[in-house]
Amino acid sequence: MNTLYWLTDDLRLQDNPTLEAATKDTTLDFIFCIDDQLFRTDRFGNTRMGTQRWRLLRQSLLDLRCSLAECGQTLNLMRGNPREVFGRLLGSGQFDRVVRSRQHASREVADWRYVCDQFPRVSFDEYDSSTLYQLPSIQFGEVFPATFSQFRRSLDAVEFRPRVNKPKVLPGPSSFNFDGQGIEAPDDKSLITGGATSGMGHLQRYFRTRAASTYKETRNYLFGEHFSTGFSPWLALGCLSPTQVFEQLSLYEAAHGANESTRWILFELMWREFFRWHARHHGATLFEFSGIAGHRPLTTFYRERFLKWCSGDTPWQIVNACMNELRETGLLSNRGRQIVASCLVNELELDWRCGAGYFEETLLDYDPCSNWGNWQYIAGVGSDPRGGRHFNLEKQADNWDSDGRYRRRWAGTRKPGPLDSLDYYDWPQEPP
Ligand SMILES: Cc1cc2nc3c(=O)[nH]c(=O)nc-3n(C[C@H](O)[C@H](O)[C@H](O)COP(=O)(O)OP(=O)(O)OC[C@H]3O[C@@H](n4cnc5c(N)ncnc54)[C@H](O)[C@@H]3O)c2cc1C
Repeated sequence: MNTLYWLTDDLRLQDNPTLEAATKDTTLDFIFCIDDQLFRTDRFGNTRMGTQRWRLLRQSLLDLRCSLAECGQTLNLMRGNPREVFGRLLGSGQFDRVVRSRQHASREVADWRYVCDQFPRVSFDEYDSSTLYQLPSIQFGEVFPATFSQFRRSLDAVEFRPRVNKPKVLPGPSSFNFDGQGIEAPDDKSLITGGATSGMGHLQRYFRTRAASTYKETRNYLFGEHFSTGFSPWLALGCLSPTQVFEQLSLYEAAHGANESTRWILFELMWREFFRWHARHHGATLFEFSGIAGHRPLTTFYRERFLKWCSGDTPWQIVNACMNELRETGLLSNRGRQIVASCLVNELELDWRCGAGYFEETLLDYDPCSNWGNWQYIAGVGSDPRGGRHFNLEKQADNWDSDGRYRRRWAGTRKPGPLDSLDYYDWPQEPP
């Protein structure tokens, strides 16, 4: 078999079932496709790939390129629409197999199906490289569990996929001329570095501390060292797999004892799992205004409010602090995400998709399934049995930033202005 490896969210050689499945093939060529559409601006003014995530992605690709070179292999970077790129490569008649990490979001699923349909003589094989479970054990049929609790309970007796070792030898590349692009080395302005090497370093450092034993008490904090695991940017690009995290967690529990906190880390990984399989089941409705619940929320689009939310200029300092942190670092705690999402939906009465799109652009750990699934949940059009979340912003600030340290750090001490510059009669509001 002359095989193309279509890289997606699996930028690592360790614990990679897709790679393992291709080790017996005659030749193997690694392709990562950068879709130009990611850099276009949408109607809300968001770009799908922001500067910080682009930097993280390039770091991750450079790291992978080095690891592949050590095995006598090459990373081919192709720019363009994946359907056209793979259409061209397969149209050459040089390849008889394509392998990929199983994707769950509708666009990626549709691209795969499209290419499969174009080339019926080529074998297309997906492997579960980015989830704890494997597709054969996730058989819910027509009815996907309505809530996270039902999902978790229904999988109680199901085993996770076993971890796989890095192959000792890889097949060599074919002689095909890919004419790929180079990867420009990014500047070093980020708080974290992309790539499997730094991801594994972070994973091991985290479990060398005792933070996992107090995770449940600290996970809702807005800031602080190791208040949460910080694994998500590497998980999103597949520089780390959830299976590797689970393995390290189990080793930690064996050495230091399991408790509520260590179990809660797995519980959160199950949320990630839930949103992945939920996205695969619900398809494009994950991105639709009325969501999987199928009802349209009473929100609209006030451009001024949206811009103020993005730039951290709302009447709520806690929201401004979170938005400033997000914009400047690409990072934001889970609590911070819930606060700003609830504000956008409930106080600003905006279309939740603008917020989800802005997160897509800015978050370092952007993952379509977790992002759009969590946004739907808060907007009340997703899988939340309570029909949406409205956080009391004053109370959140008192609970999670009682001494105001986080707000001072990220929003300064300037008194926030009013929400709208015009009143109901389009008359300019008086400054406070
Ligand atoms: C509006 C909104 C948007 C979000 N968008 C994303 C996103 O694009 N990408 C993303 O990875 N997470 C997203 N999350 C989930 C969560 O906020 C992040 O996974 C978490 O903050 C990452 O930090 P951590 O690795 O320290 O998490 P930890 O608290 O240490 O959790 C460990 C791991 O569990 C998983 N996890 C934890 N909470 C969730 C959750 N609610 N949903 C799914 N997985 C979870 C993540 O993989 C995380 O790395 C979003 C949450 C909200 C409310």
